[in-house]
Amino acid sequence: MVITSRWSVPIPRCSLQQWIFESANGPLPDRKAFIDPEKPDTNYVTMSNYRLLAKRVALGLQKAGLQSGDRVLIFSGNNIFFPSFFLGVLMAGGIVTGANPMMVPRELAYQLRDSEAKFMVTADYALKTAMEAAKEAGLPQEKIFVWGGAATPEAPELIGSPTPAPGPKGRINGIKHWTELLAGNLSQAQRWSWQEPTDPQETTCCLNYSSGTTGVPKGVEISHYSYVANGVGVVFNNRLAPDWREKEKRGRALCFLPLYHAYGQTYFVANMTKIGIPVYIMPAFDFIKLLEYIQRFRITTLAAVPPIVILVAKHPLTKKYDLSSLETMGSGGAPLSLEVSQEAQKLLPNASTIRQGWGMTEVTCTSMAWDPNNTSPASGGVGELNPNCKAKLMSLDGKTPVEKANERGELWVTGPTLMRRYWKKPEATADTIVVDSDGTRWLKTGDIAYIEEYKPGGIFHVVDRSKELIKVKGNQVAPAELEGVLLENPDVADAAVIGVTIKGEELPRAYVVKKPGSKASEQDVAKWMESKVTRYKQLKGGVVFVDAIPKNPSGKILRKLLRDRAASEVGDG
Ligand code: AMP
Repeated sequence: MVITSRWSVPIPRCSLQQWIFESANGPLPDRKAFIDPEKPDTNYVTMSNYRLLAKRVALGLQKAGLQSGDRVLIFSGNNIFFPSFFLGVLMAGGIVTGANPMMVPRELAYQLRDSEAKFMVTADYALKTAMEAAKEAGLPQEKIFVWGGAATPEAPELIGSPTPAPGPKGRINGIKHWTELLAGNLSQAQRWSWQEPTDPQETTCCLNYSSGTTGVPKGVEISHYSYVANGVGVVFNNRLAPDWREKEKRGRALCFLPLYHAYGQTYFVANMTKIGIPVYIMPAFDFIKLLEYIQRFRITTLAAVPPIVILVAKHPLTKKYDLSSLETMGSGGAPLSLEVSQEAQKLLPNASTIRQGWGMTEVTCTSMAWDPNNTSPASGGVGELNPNCKAKLMSLDGKTPVEKANERGELWVTGPTLMRRYWKKPEATADTIVVDSDGTRWLKTGDIAYIEEYKPGGIFHVVDRSKELIKVKGNQVAPAELEGVLLENPDVADAAVIGVTIKGEELPRAYVVKKPGSKASEQDVAKWMESKVTRYKQLKGGVVFVDAIPKNPSGKILRKLLRDRAASEVGDG
């Protein structure tokens, strides 16, 4: 049986930038859109400047040779210009692909090659990796831009008033500062407007990387239409609250989620600006600063991931700060336990119930959330379906629908936020999206869920995963990728990586078959991995030598078996 959202909401057929800027440059042009919390009085981008800066980036990129459909990779942590650059790429007709600045050169080179990126912008602190990866992937240096470094503190000329940029003096190691893209194009940008896509449903705006249910990270093609549909759903949900107008008027958001991931990106590049809520942008997560900023700027809304809710609930410092301004705190990206959310709730006197939503990169960002009017006791569920979305639960072989309340099945979802496909991976797309006889495209999520009641508005619970994916502090770790790296180790004959939960945190753990005669220890293998992959992918769940990796007759790793073994060896149970 298919469960349909209670809400059907029209989705404008326009580009993401059109949807955002309809209002951003409307009634509140001078309102601050993005603010550097370290220098809030001088370093900010107003709503109207957000649009103007994005147009200048677009013109600069076109002049530098960007063609419609070209990919631009953003390899950086957060800063107040990130959203303008992001939308500038879209206005130029390009596609954004974001990458974690902690990646090692090999990881970044993979994404550069796979996405066939034509340009890259990076931060000064990530430039070394960026240059190494670019060399490996064959991206010429003149196609790289950098932000930060000497030029950023001087960027006040970009802030508040749109005067020309630092230009060549901001070059780092010969790499052009991003503001060179803006040189001399202010008045042109004031007159210029982007070309709307002929069909926003068929025009990709974003390639966010995800390993999906199996295999290595893949580019998830999200159309302008889907991005807008996701935003429409989130804004609609927020406005179900009876006092939404006042909430939006006094709203102040704090962004510590990375803008290269769908969660932070959709929330802060698009939805908050659409509503007109100023966003304080932190370069990276820092718990003490987070508490300080909530108190100092009277932050009203936080979008978080479970490890952060855990910190709020358990860290002794939480009680030392005035967090009374917080009205909403959401969590997503990984399971949040009811106990933790209730513990955090007690410390946030004015926040409505802390509840989690459910989402996936393949559905732009989010498909399930709570109606703010739902006053039923917190249940640990992930909420109901967002507007325009549908879901069903299926047996693991995908053949039989599960039709009873509280009975588990694999979650399949559909709706306007569903990805177009995996970038240049038709087989992976066909394995993940099942097309019904009526033409409906269903995403097999690889999540195991149940529904409290089979009705529109029924509350879903996500209780397990049947897919390979491991989530470390909300970051994706693809076992297939780590297995590939392990096989490059001269001491390793075979390997399987699974996730194990230790003290409430999911961590990658490897089972390894050694090559005959190898003298390496388990620690040696874990240590070797440290130089090969970024921090959160390291084998902190341990390395265990085994005689053979359990596989089915067709050679597929029996991961469930290994997961159960790991849970009994070191896991929380
Ligand atoms: P990503 O594509 O990085 O957003 O990861 C999506 C995956 O994160 C989902 O398929 C789930 O496995 C997991 N996830 C997201 N939200 C939740 C949640 N509220 N509870 C449990 N798992 C979640």
